Amino acid sequence: MHIIKTIPAIRLLLHKARSRKKKIGFVPTMGALHQGHLSLIKKSRKENGLTVISIFVNPAQFSAGEDYRTYPRDKKKDVLLAKNEKVDIMFYPSAKDIYPDRYLTYVDVEDITDILCGRSRPKHFRGVTTVIGKLLNIIDPDTLYLGQKDAQQNVVIKQMVRDLNFPVKVKVLSTVRDPDGLAISSRNQYLSTRQRIEAPVLYQSLCLAKQKILQGSHSAALITRLIQTTIERKSSGKVEYVACVDADSLRRLKVLKGKILIALAVRFQKARLIDNITFQVR
Ligand code: AMP
Repeated sequence: MHIIKTIPAIRLLLHKARSRKKKIGFVPTMGALHQGHLSLIKKSRKENGLTVISIFVNPAQFSAGEDYRTYPRDKKKDVLLAKNEKVDIMFYPSAKDIYPDRYLTYVDVEDITDILCGRSRPKHFRGVTTVIGKLLNIIDPDTLYLGQKDAQQNVVIKQMVRDLNFPVKVKVLSTVRDPDGLAISSRNQYLSTRQRIEAPVLYQSLCLAKQKILQGSHSAALITRLIQTTIERKSSGKVEYVACVDADSLRRLKVLKGKILIALAVRFQKARLIDNITFQVR
């Protein structure tokens, strides 16, 4: 595995690969690799001649007072895990490489970034689209692999790809969960023992909601209330939002019909957890 730190070096390496007609799959991450990331890598390996992962804790997507400084970082373990998955190239830039002095340009997707997670995380998605846009320009992959866990991020990135004509195919893969249903996340490390025992209620409440909807309960208001009360009764988590939206446009739904996304964010003191499910309602 090549571990590459600079933009000119990765450009050169990928130029050579491209001239050998290799398809390039790209998995952007913030490191602290886990099974969720590894599932994206495995898929990329299966579908491409060359897999690139990036490890970059992106300062631009953290708001003031968030966990940029304390975000889990473990380069040694990440290198081991990536080598084990036979990643071809790990791109490991510094913040100064990505945002040099007098950096002034940002990519801002409108409208769908102010809702859901965007409400409590102003400028978060602007940071995400800026760094993903830059990484797409640097790596120029054939396919970009993303996880369903970050549902709003995926819709925002797809919008940017469409609006700015990035020549890349975007693939979203299922959320990988621990055996008790908790979506795997680097931030699960922030949970106390008791909070970790309680946290599977997020997914349980989403599954309960899905069951009710498929049995014919189509009122978004009733379903969001059901999820909120289930979580607050069974855990110490504080619900930041629960929303039933159209899975492609993120438009709020009153009546649950079509391809729906139910997304939520819950705060357990230090840990802010997100989860979602998406399915078709006839
Ligand atoms: P992150 O390192 O948290 O920025 O995530 C990098 C990529 O991995 C994003 O596309 C995430 O959606 C994806 N990802 C994170 N956790 C999971 C998971 N549990 N299952 C599937 N994909 C995930």
